[in-house]
Amino acid sequence: MRVCRSVAEARLALRDVPRPVGFVPTMGALHEGHATLFRRCTAECATAVASIFVNPLQFDDAADLDQYPRTWEHDLALLESLGVAIVFAPGPDEMYPDGFSTTIDVGPLATLYEGSCRPGHFAGVATVVLKLLLAIAPDRAYFGQKDAQQVAVIAKLIHDLDLGVTLVPVPTVRDPDGLALSSRNARLGADERKQSLGLSQGLFAGRDAWAAGERDSERIIAAARDPGLDYEYLAVVDSQDFGPPQKSRAALLVAAVLFEETRLIDNVPLNIPLSVSPEES
Ligand code: AMP
Repeated sequence: MRVCRSVAEARLALRDVPRPVGFVPTMGALHEGHATLFRRCTAECATAVASIFVNPLQFDDAADLDQYPRTWEHDLALLESLGVAIVFAPGPDEMYPDGFSTTIDVGPLATLYEGSCRPGHFAGVATVVLKLLLAIAPDRAYFGQKDAQQVAVIAKLIHDLDLGVTLVPVPTVRDPDGLALSSRNARLGADERKQSLGLSQGLFAGRDAWAAGERDSERIIAAARDPGLDYEYLAVVDSQDFGPPQKSRAALLVAAVLFEETRLIDNVPLNIPLSVSPEES
């Protein structure tokens, strides 16, 4: 496994590798959710590439950036065991040298829900993902459905800028009790960890209501709401533009919940199969 620290080094390492090249961007602190993306990537691609970069541009809160977990040795060992060929792990100065000022705005989608709670977040995500895709030039890029609005933002970026990359959304990996795996779960206290179950269980209840034929968003939301949780949002949305659900397209039940030290996001698809790849849209 080769670790590259600069864009130039990554481009050189990728010059003659077998294709298709699959790419999984991460911020490190890898867990079983990430591992599932890598397993899918190595199963479908001749060369698997990871990136580890805690992207300062997508954090609206400096303390959150400081406290983001960093587990470099563990991450490298896991990536090696999963058969990843190349790890691109640039420092902030490589990605954003002095004078850097270009950012990517994907439009109204980036202002809703996560974009509204975390202003500038999706400009940071779209900018770093575009830089990473240009550096790695993969055939396929793997993103977790856990961050459903991020998937929609990347689908739009790839589509609007004709990037020619196939976006592969991967279903959310959960703990056996239902909590979606996240690097942020480690910041939940013991009581909060118990309380957090209300988030996923509520979403499952909303999904059950949908499966039973309920189509009124307010009633689905009422079925999903845990009164003990502090929601930033809980909504039924269209999976592509995050506007009101549209009959002909997949819908999502999405939520963000605040805890003392952290916030968790989660979602469930309400109708399957979920189609978010630009080829399929
Ligand atoms: P992050 O390191 O948090 O930026 O995540 C890197 C990638 O892993 C993103 O595409 C996430 O959506 C994905 N991911 C994180 N947690 C999960 C999970 N529990 N299930 C599936 N994918 C996940």
